[in-house]
Formats: sequence, C-alpha cells, structure tokens
Amino acid sequence: MYRNSTCGELRLADANREVTLAGWVSHIRKMGGMTFIDLRDRYGITQLSFNQEVDTSLCDQANKLGREWVIQVTGRVQERSSKNPNLSTGEIEIIASALKVLNASKTPPFTIETETDGGDELRMKYRYLDLRRNVVRRNLELRHRMAFETRRYLDEQGFLEVETPVLIGSTPEGARDFIVPSRMNQGEFYALPQSPQLFKQLLMVSGFDRYFQIVKCFRDEDLRADRQPEFTQIDCEMSFVEQEDVLSLFEGLTKHLFKTIKEIDIPDFPRISYADAMRLYGSDKPDTRFGMTFTEIKDLTTGHNFGVFDTAEYVGAICAEGCASYTRKQLDGLTDFVKRPQVGAKGLIYLRYHEDGTLKSSVDKFFSEQDLKKWADRCNAKPGDLILVMAGETEKTQKQLSELRLEMGSRLGLRDRNNYRCLWVVDFPLLEKDEELNRFFAKHHPFTSPKPEDIALLDSDPAAVRANAYDIVINGVEIGGGSIRIHDSGLQKKMFSVLGFTEEKAQEQFGFLMNAFQYGAPPHGGIAFGLDRFVSIFAGLDSIRDCIAFPKNNAGRDMMIDAPSRVEQEQLDELGILLKPEKKN
Ligand code: ASP
Repeated sequence: MYRNSTCGELRLADANREVTLAGWVSHIRKMGGMTFIDLRDRYGITQLSFNQEVDTSLCDQANKLGREWVIQVTGRVQERSSKNPNLSTGEIEIIASALKVLNASKTPPFTIETETDGGDELRMKYRYLDLRRNVVRRNLELRHRMAFETRRYLDEQGFLEVETPVLIGSTPEGARDFIVPSRMNQGEFYALPQSPQLFKQLLMVSGFDRYFQIVKCFRDEDLRADRQPEFTQIDCEMSFVEQEDVLSLFEGLTKHLFKTIKEIDIPDFPRISYADAMRLYGSDKPDTRFGMTFTEIKDLTTGHNFGVFDTAEYVGAICAEGCASYTRKQLDGLTDFVKRPQVGAKGLIYLRYHEDGTLKSSVDKFFSEQDLKKWADRCNAKPGDLILVMAGETEKTQKQLSELRLEMGSRLGLRDRNNYRCLWVVDFPLLEKDEELNRFFAKHHPFTSPKPEDIALLDSDPAAVRANAYDIVINGVEIGGGSIRIHDSGLQKKMFSVLGFTEEKAQEQFGFLMNAFQYGAPPHGGIAFGLDRFVSIFAGLDSIRDCIAFPKNNAGRDMMIDAPSRVEQEQLDELGILLKPEKKN
C-alpha cells in the first residue's frame, strides 16, 4: 500500500492518527533543528515535519530531498502550533517516522506554484509539470464536472451518446478541413470532421430521436485566443422538434450547469433577433452585462457641411455615463484605440455633456449647442455623460463601434467575470454574400432551414431570407449555435442550388444525405456547444488554452511532443505522397 490518506484530507479531527501519504516535494524549509516539507498531490498540500533531535538520520534523509521528488511518508497527525488558514490542511502537520524515496526528480524548469516564474512557452513544453499546478489542474477538474453534468442532464432527458467516425470525407463548405491520406486508396484522402453534422442528421433519419456526443472537432483555421485546431463540442440533435423545443431544452442544460457547478440561478434567457443585435450592439454576440447600446443619429448630423457625416451611410453613438470629465488625454487614448488596425476606424467624434448643462464637442465648428443637445436627447444622455460617435459604412462602423463599446465597458469595470448574462440570438439570416466571389454562402451551414414565411424570397431576395438558426451567447462569447434543419430533399436541393452547386456537384458531395432524406427523414434540429469556451467562461479565463490538458500554440504546434513533424520517406512512399522539393535560399 502506497498511501492511506491523500494530501488534502487530514484535519484536526484526525490528530494522533498514524497515516501514510505519497506525493511530490513542493517546498523544503529548514528552521533550526527542524525541517518542514510541503507534500503535494492532486488533492492538496500537507506539511510534514522532521525533528533533528528526535530522529537525526530521518531528518538528514529529508534534508537531502529535492523539489518534485516523489516520496512516501508515514507519521502521526498533530495539531500545528502556527496554523495556515489558507490551506485546508493548515491546522495539522505530520510528525514523520518513516520516509521512502519513490523517485528522484531533476529540478523543474519553473516553479510549480500558482504564480509561476515559467513563461508560456516553457510551460507548454513541460505541460506535464504545468498540470501539477493547482490553478491549471482546477480548470481540468471543472471541465470534467461540466462534461459529467452535461451527460447526466442529457441522459435524464433521454439522449443517447453515439460515436460518429473521425475519418470522413472532405466537404467544401465551412472552414478548411484537415485531411488524412489513405494508404489503401492512394491518391484519396479522408478529412477530419469539422463537426458530426451530417452523421447526427443521419441518426435522426435512423430514428435515434435524441442524440448527443461530447466530441473532438477539427478546423484548419488561423488561431486566436479562443480557437484551437482541435476542440470539443457538446453536439446534440433531436427529432420532432421546433426551434422553441430546442431552445428550452438547452437553456435547461445551461441553467443546470450554472446551478450544479457554480450554484448560480440563471433567469430565463432574453432573446434578441440578429437584426436587433446588430442595430443595438453592432455584434451578433453582444455582451449584455452592460447597456451602452447604439443610437442612430444620422438624420441629426447631415446638412451641416461636415463631410465625414454627410458622406456616411451610418452615424452611430454610444453614451458613456458619467464620463464627461474625461481628459483630453483619455479621449486621445480612445481615438488611438479605434484607429488600431484591429479596429480600423479613421477617427472618433466626442460630445461632452457637462454637469452644468453645457455641451462641448470635437465638431463644434459644424454644430451649435442646440444641435448637439438633440444628439444628447436622442441618446438619453444626462449632464455628466460622454457621447462617442462613429460614422461610415453601416456594417463596418457598427463593428468598430462595438469594439469601442466593449473597451468602454472594460474601462468602466462593467464586465465583471462573476456576473453572467446569457441570451439567445435568433432569426439569423440564412445566407451571407461573399462580395468578392459574388456568391452566397450559408451563414450557419447548408442544412439550416429557412423560416417558412421567407421561403418565397429564396429566388427574389436571398439576402433577406431568415433562418431557423440560433446562437447562445454568454458575456459576449458565442457558446453554441444550431438550427432547425431542412428535412425535405426538394428544399435541400433548392438550397444547394442557391449556394451555387450544380446538381452533379451537390450529388457528389451530399448525395448520401439527400438519398437518406428520401427514406422518411423526420423534422429535426439541434445545437452544438463549444465545451472549451464554456469551461473557460466558468473558469473566468480569457483563453481556452488553460482548460485543455494539452493545447497547441498559436502556430498550431504541440510544443511538448513537437508536432506536427516530418515523417520518414518510407511512410510517404507508402502513401504515394511526393513532397514539393524544398526551396533553397
Ligand atoms: N454543427 C454545427 C456547428 O458545428 C452546430 C449545429 O448546427 O448543430 O456549428
């Protein structure tokens, strides 16, 4: 037996018990004739104490240990004279009577502490050591509990977890596929699934009725803080449902997770249409922890000989409460913020509504105080408020104003991580036009159904067709999305033709789905949650990386195992793959 207690469980009530612990040496402190060791395992830290006078050879042995050595210790639990209130075991220590080294360790390249001295790269290279740190381990524990509670909830609702294949065919829609060469079928390739979308729809045709899967998905996209080339979805599909059924069941899942894991009661989710989300927040994933919604003031600004406004398609304003006292320097800072390439605006116009009721703007040359008062009134501004205005092409300007709104929200401390605001964004457009390619793409995916009342517009005004599609948004993060699907092969064919597929191409890519739809496809719909993002929101993290055990870096590399890597020529030959000769400089 290696141990009969963990390093996290002993308390004052265990005093005088003889225990055996095993774990890693976290700290060694020598004080006079005493040696104290913090012993760590997954469950916590327990202090071991060795007394030179009582047992010299044992204490000498302890003094020879190094950080991260693996040891086994037997001893008696005793009340500590100087207690540590920050530690769950802080009231006791173990008076050691036997010590055995189970394994020695090299000195770790960074300190295994909550605040470590290791940089990102080093931590990723030695991720197995990084995972010993409490903060990182806790995120994985949280992830486990969320996945577990998800399974419990969905099981109670009659869902079956079904595995779908990882080696599938490539489809041209959506993001870029990762492809895998086939040795047995040279010149042919599998693709890794971007999601199990088609399979879960086929399972509905099979009559499975309620499916879910916690599943790895793969997308070969440029990476950002909230993206990884492989990520995990809680993927779900249901038959005989309308949008309302899906929303209520998965609102239920979200509430269940908040309740069981964070002990938070979330009220019913507000719903906002895509159109309103864009109009009021300039974003289809609005952060609704704070207001500061957009006000259109185009009509109040034209005809004053101010070119920027006169030529703009859109003029929008946000009102920052109590910020009229912003200094010139602070306002310049905001202008610099919107001019950053990531935001890309040309400039920012401001209006200070002073406490004394006077109004001062950066465009006083063109607008009288009376004119400005109209802006302020439209924005429901009060004396003491600051109005920030941006102008230009509608969509672009709304996006830029959205960035500014979020920045102001952060500066004003309105984006508290522990305050959770969930909502549904509904009525997404079905299609999105790529102006360069002059063709439509599915905004969600090509299996999403149009709203029945909009079907007639598919030919005359495709851009105006709304979809039975929805996203779940928490604190400005898109946590999941889904749709009611097309289950009629005729309508599915129509959709492919609107997307510019010839009949042959559609048959080649999605023939199996359209064929299946001819054998009694039930009405169905579903949703997928991004588990990594969901966990990072619960953990209060900005990046999804620290809730993934072995994440990849921004270049898509696994720094620890150093992948991707070259393979032997033999392997390539077997696959019939000829690499382009390397360019010599
Ligand atoms: N498969 C979709 C996605 O990955 C989700 C869904 O429509 O259920 O975004």
